[in-house]
Amino acid sequence: MDKGLFTGINAKVLTHEDMSLHTTFKIGGPADYFVVPNDIEALKKAREAAIQAGLKCFILGGGANVLFPDAGYHGVVIATEGLKQIFLETNGLLHAGCGAAISDVAQFASSVGRAGLQFFYSMPGSTGGAIYMNARCYNASISDALKAVVYLDGDGNICTLETAEGGFDYKKSPFQTNGGIILEGIFATTGGVAAELLQEMEGYKKDREAKGHFAYPCAGSVFKNNRAFGLPSGKIIDNLGLRGYTVGGAKISEYHANIIVNCGNATAQDVKDLVNLIQVRVKEATGFQLEREIIYV
Ligand SMILES: Cc1cc2nc3c(=O)[nH]c(=O)nc-3n(C[C@H](O)[C@H](O)[C@H](O)COP(=O)(O)OP(=O)(O)OC[C@H]3O[C@@H](n4cnc5c(N)ncnc54)[C@H](O)[C@@H]3O)c2cc1C
Repeated sequence: MDKGLFTGINAKVLTHEDMSLHTTFKIGGPADYFVVPNDIEALKKAREAAIQAGLKCFILGGGANVLFPDAGYHGVVIATEGLKQIFLETNGLLHAGCGAAISDVAQFASSVGRAGLQFFYSMPGSTGGAIYMNARCYNASISDALKAVVYLDGDGNICTLETAEGGFDYKKSPFQTNGGIILEGIFATTGGVAAELLQEMEGYKKDREAKGHFAYPCAGSVFKNNRAFGLPSGKIIDNLGLRGYTVGGAKISEYHANIIVNCGNATAQDVKDLVNLIQVRVKEATGFQLEREIIYV
């Protein structure tokens, strides 16, 4: 591996970097290259360098929704964690860099008395990842507060997409199909009382703690919900008595049946086998095909 590929680019470059260190599942073998750009220009150049070298590229936010293979990633993982500026315009528009933790963005907004993002406090992951996934919690999707997204298209142009242009739906965003790299989210916030917003946020954090979200390494909900099934996916799995079911080091959480936890030594294959088993058992028992939410890299 030749770090020289990225010479002159304002980025931290590591080789053979274990992805288990960068994912909330704490699973995944080494990436050939792990590049952390310090600015947008560096991100653009890092992607160009990878393409020119014929290497595939993966954009990593907080690693809270992904499963990397045990064999690692043969290519370049570009991590956005260096792009985390947050600022508020006088008109209430809040700008957040793609690498800013979405929880920090919520904390920032609430602490200056701006409402709209408090639901995302203590949810793991970055702003870019939350937009890509159109993350949702406490009856709010990130697209509800999102006014526009600045992104890098496949030709290296910096473009703006207004949320009103469409393409966002339940756990869906246009970036899942257009290949764009999200650079910044621009959120429309409304006036609120900082102390009340901060108190509301603490409630969400406590709720997540009580639901065991942080008890073991995991990647949040494994399957999307589907209204047509009549019940949340976790409830369907629970009804089959699968809570606590284990494959190798991967286990269906005792707290919540739609979460798979890494008990310490889970491999990516353990997780995949458990996901398959759940899908087969649910299909046999109910006829429903659960749709996976976590992303296999
Ligand atoms: C304990 C726990 C609780 C959770 N609770 C929730 C919840 O309540 N609601 C919910 O919706 N999710 C939840 N999740 C899942 C996760 O937090 C979200 O999906 C989050 O939005 C993922 O963000 P990330 O930055 O970690 O994305 P990553 O896992 O790093 O990446 C996810 C996808 O986004 C892409 N991506 C990331 N950044 C960019 C970018 N800048 N440009 C283009 N593509 C990008 C990646 O390539 C990948 O395809 C939970 C996870 C955990 C571990």
